[in-house]
Amino acid sequence: MQFSSFSKRFMGSAGILQLMQDLGEAMANGGEDVCMLGGGNPAAIPEINERLHRRMQALLDEPNRFAQMIGNYDSPQGEPRFIKALCELFRREYGWAISERNIALTAGSQAAFFMLFNLFAGAFPDGGRRRILLPILPEYIGYSDVGISQPLFRAVKPSIEERGAHRFKYRVNFDELTIADDVGAICVSRPTNPTGNVLTDDEIDRLHALAREHDVPLIIDNAYGQPFPDIIFKQVALPWSEQIILCLSLSKMGLPAVRTGIIVAAEPVIQAITGMNAILQLANGSIGPALAEEMTASGEIIELSRNVINPYYRARSEQALAWFDAALAGVDYRIHEAEGAIFLWLWFPGLPISSDELYRRLKQRGVLVIAGEHFFPGLEEDWPHRHECIRVSYAQSPEVVQRGIGIIAEEVKKAFGHQ
Ligand code: PLP
Repeated sequence: MQFSSFSKRFMGSAGILQLMQDLGEAMANGGEDVCMLGGGNPAAIPEINERLHRRMQALLDEPNRFAQMIGNYDSPQGEPRFIKALCELFRREYGWAISERNIALTAGSQAAFFMLFNLFAGAFPDGGRRRILLPILPEYIGYSDVGISQPLFRAVKPSIEERGAHRFKYRVNFDELTIADDVGAICVSRPTNPTGNVLTDDEIDRLHALAREHDVPLIIDNAYGQPFPDIIFKQVALPWSEQIILCLSLSKMGLPAVRTGIIVAAEPVIQAITGMNAILQLANGSIGPALAEEMTASGEIIELSRNVINPYYRARSEQALAWFDAALAGVDYRIHEAEGAIFLWLWFPGLPISSDELYRRLKQRGVLVIAGEHFFPGLEEDWPHRHECIRVSYAQSPEVVQRGIGIIAEEVKKAFGHQ
């Protein structure tokens, strides 16, 4: 059997594949004895699950609505009532001048990045080639391998602001950021996976201005942001203009399995996404929209995010930070400011082993994290910093997170020769 060159993208050692396989294996074993601090699975928040369960029950109890949910292909742009509810919510909350023609749904936002990156990078009719600019690393592991053509990225190392003895924050290094002719789009996740960074309003405004100046889209991956799921612990603005492609997701609301992503963008972008949806999969799944439509129309999705999801993760993040600070006493470590998302990003300056080796040692002890080096797509130089960091999710049960943190601290101390 011979596989095409295209297949190499999917059969290599993609970081996202390792991550999802680790997650799948841990879950297949019932998750017992494994501290799954690696994946991006959201927490099971009882109040949210209960609300979603009630909504599903209501759908099951309405035979016509149920038949519609499972028996029809949606339009390739996405389920129209959910799109209408989203449109009204964004207009109401943010005053954006958008219509339903500015919104499309995708099979999860991961699929949206596959589509968007290949719409704006690769070969162009003028004979040129363009890339996606990642103006600040580290960046989401799931972007790494979605490009049909390579190289896909241009990426810029961040500046590092050290804060106190044990915290730090990455900042966009605008001195090093140039928008060359081969840039097809700019992309940032905000809050950032893996670091929990939230780019400041000033950083976003400057990126937006650069996008306008060079007439390229600014893609903002808002999978953890406002208005839902609102896993963001800083007060920041959420801008939109025709220059911005805003990506949202129902996953971190507690619905990763329904695979529903949302794109808000200029009409030609939505038309292109609609075409790609039709060709790749005919239509999106209808269950996510059916579950979320009513709570989107009523605004309850915002209340649940603000009053349940946000405080839940904020408390979990503070707790995990306190456990790390206690467990790592005596070690040279820094943790990125936890401003949002569901991860802590730890940096061990001068770590004597690579973060990949640390990942392997932790896996042997039943603790799954993600090695930092996977989060630097497009970085051409081998920056030592990328081998000194790990990403740890704090979304699993507090007992699991606390046990995992204890083992991480032991292995890091061992690596530094402290024990
Ligand atoms: N963007 C970021 C920053 C993420 O962390 C994730 C998932 O973890 C995604 C996008 C993709 O999420 P989904 O495809 O479930 O919407």
